[in-house]
Amino acid sequence: MATAKEIFMELLSALPEDVPHIHESAWIDPKTVPFSADVRQMCADNRCGKYGSCWTCPPGCGDWEMLRDKYQAYKEAFVFTTCHELEDSFDFEGMQEAGAAHKRLDDLIADKLGAFVGQYVHLGAGACGICATCTYPDAPCRFPEKARQSMEACGINVVNLSRECGIKYINGADTVTYFSMLLF
Ligand code: SF4
Repeated sequence: MATAKEIFMELLSALPEDVPHIHESAWIDPKTVPFSADVRQMCADNRCGKYGSCWTCPPGCGDWEMLRDKYQAYKEAFVFTTCHELEDSFDFEGMQEAGAAHKRLDDLIADKLGAFVGQYVHLGAGACGICATCTYPDAPCRFPEKARQSMEACGINVVNLSRECGIKYINGADTVTYFSMLLF
């Protein structure tokens, strides 16, 4: 039986036209993924308004040092971006559409790799939006196999990660770039 990584590599070579294609990507050693307490502090400052409201966001997603130790124990990490044109730097609707497009690619990957839950980890961009109202903190997550943590929620400094990977964090004026990472 093919492994999650083998299925993923096959998927990469034949991505359908209706999802954004990967802009840049890199394979790196998970031990070099930069985790930091500072990133989690930004979550606690609640700049995005999701802190304490979802199982995939802090504090519900777990202690960042525990997540760091767990994720850095994987053998390989694949980091990738999608890049999207905006009308201008105030095009918030365009940013939302770009985020949704990036999620469609993440969802496609997750659909193909769903049978391999436990053999890989998929971290995305932004809070989980599967349910209209998250069960946090009163009841367990409804779809733990589908809910994706964002890299920032785990304490990953994505700016430093982009440098580590040789991937651009910003791709020019009037564009937005989203990151995801798979661990095998
Ligand atoms: S799948 Fe639903 S219950 Fe689980 S984290 Fe996402 S929104 Fe919350």
